[in-house]
Amino acid sequence: MPMSPAQRNGRVGDAPPQTPPPNGQMPIVLLDSPLPDNATKSGIAPLARPVLTDPFGRDISYLRISVTDRCDFRCVYCMSEDMTFLPKRDLLTLEEIDRLATAFIARGTRKLRLTGGEPLVRRDVMSLFRSLSRHLTSGALEELTLTTNGSLLDRYAQELADYGVRRINVSLDTLDPDKFRQITRWGDLDKVLGGIEAARQAGMRVKINAVALKGVNEDEIESLMNWAHGLGMDLTLIEVMPLGEIEPGRIDQFLPLSVVRARLMDRYNLVEDPYRTGGPARYVRVQETGGLIGFITPMTHNFCESCNRVRLTCTGTLYMCLGQEDAADLRAPLRASADDALLHRAMEEAIARKPKGHDFVIDRRRAKPAVGRHMSVTGG
Ligand code: SAM
Ligand code: SF4
Repeated sequence: MPMSPAQRNGRVGDAPPQTPPPNGQMPIVLLDSPLPDNATKSGIAPLARPVLTDPFGRDISYLRISVTDRCDFRCVYCMSEDMTFLPKRDLLTLEEIDRLATAFIARGTRKLRLTGGEPLVRRDVMSLFRSLSRHLTSGALEELTLTTNGSLLDRYAQELADYGVRRINVSLDTLDPDKFRQITRWGDLDKVLGGIEAARQAGMRVKINAVALKGVNEDEIESLMNWAHGLGMDLTLIEVMPLGEIEPGRIDQFLPLSVVRARLMDRYNLVEDPYRTGGPARYVRVQETGGLIGFITPMTHNFCESCNRVRLTCTGTLYMCLGQEDAADLRAPLRASADDALLHRAMEEAIARKPKGHDFVIDRRRAKPAVGRHMSVTGG
């Protein structure tokens, strides 16, 4: 529910849970403490409640929501071929996802990314983009974006652009159609390339994400980079992370990005670049192409110290860290009452437990992945 002008102009405290009055509007309780910094400096209306800050002083300004755990691909590093998905009755409705996102925005979330699974396979997901776009219009949200495999982008690109999506990430690990089919098991490269073109035509900035896979696409990183940079798209490379059980051993897929980077440096001039998206990627500019390459290296370098994000699943479970099992259920407090007081308390308790960092290890002696859930559940 959008904030009222009174809420935007004053500081609203955590009122104890109350029965909403008949008109559904909760009374506003003013606090004495000063407004959070980001409220006034940016010219954005003050937040109704204090910014969520974790025990290490990191403001939580970035929320990723996995709107579905389902997908039309079965990428070998992400899912097993034979996946069991969550029963539909367990899912939050799109209205509930909107309410949760809105509660986070009221507490300082400035960037919202919808992901999955494949976010565009969720039925009627465009209505969620449409309703969330009101937070862009009001200035409460800086960015609304998504990560997609691109298979349905040709259908939705224009609508996404119309709802204020300016930048999207498309995951693409190879430009070889056979290899693409081998990696995604079910994907069609031409559909994805068509989707990327549709997104560019709609005026969105596209970033390509590629997982570096030993013996699979390691010989193609350079051609992927030249293709992406040739079209004005940046490329981010990701190390395989040990999330969820999959059939072949992940240790066989793991390719340290330090190796990829060293190989690129033999042929290109890579210059450290200060560009940051607020995420874990560290960028270099390739002098020969003029484009950026990002490296996401959870395995070889820990990227946690500046982590400003939390992840919400499609069942309302909040993960404070991608690489830890601890989680908080936000669905119960969401459904327990029509006002958001219980929800805000649950969010505060959850953020107070955000750990300093993950402890991923890819180890031949370890039979189980470090984290049992697949990336498609938590939202990559
Ligand atoms: N389906 C969408 C897509 O593929 O872009 C969004 C969800 S997907 C889980 C998000 C990102 O996670 C993709 O870029 C994918 O390559 C990456 N990913 C999935 N499993 C991974 C793993 N085990 N290690 C590293 N990256 C992974
Ligand atoms: Fe689907 Fe994305 Fe996982 Fe591939 S990486 S199986 S496209 S969720």
